[in-house]
Amino acid sequence: MRTRIIAGNWKMYKTVEEAKSFAEEVKGKVSTSSKVEAVICPPAPYLSTLVQITEGSALNIGAQTMHYENEGAFTGEVSPSMLQSIGVGYVILGHSERRQYFNETDETVNRKVHAAFTANLTPIVCVGESLEERESNSTVEKVAHQVKEAFKAVDSNQAEKSVIAYEPIWAIGTGKTATAEDANEVCGAIRSTIGELYGQEVADKVRIQYGGSVSPANIVELLSMEHIDGALVGGASLQPESFVKLIEAGANA
Ligand code: 13P
Repeated sequence: MRTRIIAGNWKMYKTVEEAKSFAEEVKGKVSTSSKVEAVICPPAPYLSTLVQITEGSALNIGAQTMHYENEGAFTGEVSPSMLQSIGVGYVILGHSERRQYFNETDETVNRKVHAAFTANLTPIVCVGESLEERESNSTVEKVAHQVKEAFKAVDSNQAEKSVIAYEPIWAIGTGKTATAEDANEVCGAIRSTIGELYGQEVADKVRIQYGGSVSPANIVELLSMEHIDGALVGGASLQPESFVKLIEAGANA
């Protein structure tokens, strides 16, 4: 059985006080469970503080992006070894907002996946199609291509530890969710792509999240699907009560 993984992507929201009080409140409300892993990905300036607050709890901390080099003249960037040194365990890579606004490409995502494993970080690799691609029936082709590019020259023992987030771009922050059936179909296609690359055993281990307007109201149905092992959640991860409900759904559904 795959352990579910529910991750909150806070994007560029919250003051430090809000971030701290969220972590203080939520850390005692999520329990260590073999059914679900809980992760919060706050803005970079709060990572270290939240790692300290949540130490010893079942609430894990991840970054929203990173550079692929460990050091260098890259003004404004944060490196894999820096994240590792402060105790961060996860990193979101290739989010569609990074691809759209910050020139992230399949090639840089691939370099970052390699760098994440070198720094002992679990990558949450995001893939997803635009509305235009969905309407022209090229969804599966698009996400399969993104997966193949992201995992180029990645070893199978690393690939099996990866998390892949299927986030249709048209469903992000819009209140429009893919139907559970549609989301499952694409997550199944992603698993098949991993199967083509690494074989069935690895495909069975990789965890695949759905993301795009996930909320306490729709998560149970999404998690009931064969290929959906969790969720990457934006808006509904910002309030403690709502985030705790999502984790509880992961533990119970
Ligand atoms: P929303 O849950 O706000 O639609 O955001 C999804 C997302 O982009 C998570 O990474």
